[in-house]
Amino acid sequence: MEGIGVSPGIIIGKVFVKKNIELKVEKYYISQVITELDRLNSAIEKTLNEIDHIYINTLKKIGKKESEVFIAHKMMAEDPEFISMIKGKIERESINAEWAVKEVRDDFVQILKSIDNDYLRERSADILDISNRLLMNLLGKKNIELSKLEKCIIVTDDLTPSDIAHLDSKNVLGFVTENGGKTSHSSIMLKTLELPYVVGVKDITLSAKNGDTMIVDGNEGIVILNPTSEQIEIYSKKKRQFEQFILKLNKLKGKETTSKDGVKIKITGNITFPNDIDKVIEYDGDGVGLYRTELLYMDRDKLPTEEEQFQTYKVTAEKLQGKPLIIRTLDAGGDKDLSYLDLPKEMNPFLGYRAIRICLDRRDIFKTQLRAILRASAFGNIKIIFPMISNIEEVLTIKAIIEEVKEQLKVEGITFNKDIEIGIMVETPAAAIQSDILAREVDFFSIGTNDLIQYTLAVDRGNQKVSYLYSQYHPAVLRLVKLIIDNGHKEGIWVGMCGEAARDEKLIPILLGMGLDEFSMSFSSILKTKWIISNISKSKMESIVGEVLKLSTPLEVKKYIEEKITTNY
Ligand code: PEP
Ligand code: MG
Repeated sequence: MEGIGVSPGIIIGKVFVKKNIELKVEKYYISQVITELDRLNSAIEKTLNEIDHIYINTLKKIGKKESEVFIAHKMMAEDPEFISMIKGKIERESINAEWAVKEVRDDFVQILKSIDNDYLRERSADILDISNRLLMNLLGKKNIELSKLEKCIIVTDDLTPSDIAHLDSKNVLGFVTENGGKTSHSSIMLKTLELPYVVGVKDITLSAKNGDTMIVDGNEGIVILNPTSEQIEIYSKKKRQFEQFILKLNKLKGKETTSKDGVKIKITGNITFPNDIDKVIEYDGDGVGLYRTELLYMDRDKLPTEEEQFQTYKVTAEKLQGKPLIIRTLDAGGDKDLSYLDLPKEMNPFLGYRAIRICLDRRDIFKTQLRAILRASAFGNIKIIFPMISNIEEVLTIKAIIEEVKEQLKVEGITFNKDIEIGIMVETPAAAIQSDILAREVDFFSIGTNDLIQYTLAVDRGNQKVSYLYSQYHPAVLRLVKLIIDNGHKEGIWVGMCGEAARDEKLIPILLGMGLDEFSMSFSSILKTKWIISNISKSKMESIVGEVLKLSTPLEVKKYIEEKITTNY
């Protein structure tokens, strides 16, 4: 059976089918509203205590980042709007608390599920989790104790963060669910626990029974129920190979990355969340190639202060102990809304008021961030990068503003790195085509393929309907990438890439052959990229690049790479 592999690894074991307790909620009318509200209040209190308990447990057992979902759960469970909707129903309709919770839960879930955004859609699992916990407390029921299970693969319709927090990870081999998605909190938690997880396997809770044997391949998203001995043999071998491969990858930690013919390459991390930096260090990244600072500005109702930003940048730079930290200035707008900025509703947000355009318009915001970055530059190896540059005037204006900010800091007697390096994201076709001219003004380039692809191919990067046209293998994109690298090198600057294409296993050899100096990516891909690069020769790839650039379609490119390169290592 096929699903989507969201946490890698292969396991073979016995099944435990966890049917979420059918919460039969019945509607009835009450005579005493006050008594019902009291009942609701004590169930809410119990729920909040439970969430506190799970939070502490998760913090100890899994990690800080993973435990934060329960802070969010607590906020939702005590959200005044959520609670007053439930209370309002009880008061207006004289109905029992369970029915009121069920109706409010169903309304929220229905709204979230109808939104065309994976992240928000998957938040419906969090609402279900909290509401069901509240219902269990109202009904006085207890869920199955996952902590008491013996080594098994848990098969269930949906997996909530609370389920994972309760289990003893030593006793669980992996998970298969009917629902769920890549960005759900559960998949993030299971990746950290390194337990294989396949989601979206249709009707698996109906076909699997307790005690059945199952193979779960989280790499390929495949599940085999009651496999033949031949299949068990094949997958046992795959499992061994995968485990050996992981061991091999771990051995790369602490070593420089050089191609087979001795060319040194930098593999750095992209970070967004505060704890990402610890992961980049754990997976031995050569620094941070892209620090997306938007998060500092999101989930709040006013701009972050200079001091707040300074502290965050300083701590992050210090953790890297001299390795570079490339901080990108605010890249708001497009799909990243900041409600308190009152950004205009636009027909084409990705072509509108976003990124550097906002910063050059709102100099107050820009200068505050630059001051914070410059101040932090006294404490580590910080470089600055600017998003969505589309012309040389922007770069010249930015440089003048930086000089102004530096002057001001000098006057105030504040120390900073006066030779701080500045770079630009090359992510618009205009910047790519004019990269020869832009290269004379900056110290480095980082190619943002996520945007470069959408602008070059005129395909909205978040629109499912046209996603079949969005491809990093499109020859037009690859030709631009080559042009950017060549132009950068001609002007004597280094060129990196921080878009998703930098961690594409098929493209890495091609990018190496094109001369890319730095590959920046999510921490989870760092070791694998180090391994790929150490197993290929740059000079061999150079000759293949010429052939690739002559091809006509993304499919031809993909096939050519598969045939010529991927099988070579
Ligand atoms: C990019 O556009 O490739 C990039 C790295 O930036 P973001 O995904 O944040 O737009
Ligand atoms: Mg971008």
